[in-house]
Amino acid sequence: MSKLTIAIDGFSSCGKSTLAKEIAQALNYIYADSGAMYRAVTLYMLDKGILKDGAFIPEQVISALDKIDIAFKFDASLGKSETYLNGVNVEKDIRNSRISKNVSGISAVKEVREKLVEIQQNMGKTGGVVMDGRDIGTVVFPNAEVKLFMTASNRVRAERRYKELKEKGENISLDQVAEDLQKRDYIDMNREISPLRKADDAIEIDNSELTRASQLETALAIIKKQKSKLLSKA
Ligand code: C5P
Repeated sequence: MSKLTIAIDGFSSCGKSTLAKEIAQALNYIYADSGAMYRAVTLYMLDKGILKDGAFIPEQVISALDKIDIAFKFDASLGKSETYLNGVNVEKDIRNSRISKNVSGISAVKEVREKLVEIQQNMGKTGGVVMDGRDIGTVVFPNAEVKLFMTASNRVRAERRYKELKEKGENISLDQVAEDLQKRDYIDMNREISPLRKADDAIEIDNSELTRASQLETALAIIKKQKSKLLSKA
């Protein structure tokens, strides 16, 4: 049987990327972080002054899209891929609250989504991909053989993100982190184009109380079950 396509969606800070990376490693699949692409576009718009204080003129964003090239390059010494914006490694620059605060507005622009979805679909053409995001099971890979939808309680999510940001040296309060997460989820769920929602055939995993190991075990069991279902149909 050829390799599967695995779509992982869910709210912010639900541990999607941790799980996606671990599944990819366990199955020898490629991990693709679609959120990193929206973050890279946001970074470009901020750096060019097109996005300022959370506001932008959509036409300016749309006409700048042609000047943006996003790629993932595997770094063998790190054992993972990093995000490149117009040839420059932006992996660190896209993982901070300046980007998190602004990314949902930019992600709601139809043309931004069209450009990124096309790149994402190309990445998944041959299967063997685990991609995480908000619309992977609904829009990017509606035919993915495995769809997971991650949830966790608001408290757990805020604490996780807070810890991450603190480790990076950001000066931010837990309340602020919780508020930013709620805002981002609200925009992601209520935008007109490809809003965040669970695909009808996705399996939900609430990892509020799960360890990383048991979360991975749960996901691998779902994938195994799905594989044997497909094989029995073949
Ligand atoms: O997953 P991550 O938190 O890095 O995603 C950042 C933001 O990018 C999300 O809050 C959402 O606005 C946007 N996004 C999206 N569709 C995806 C992945 C991310 O709209 N498939």
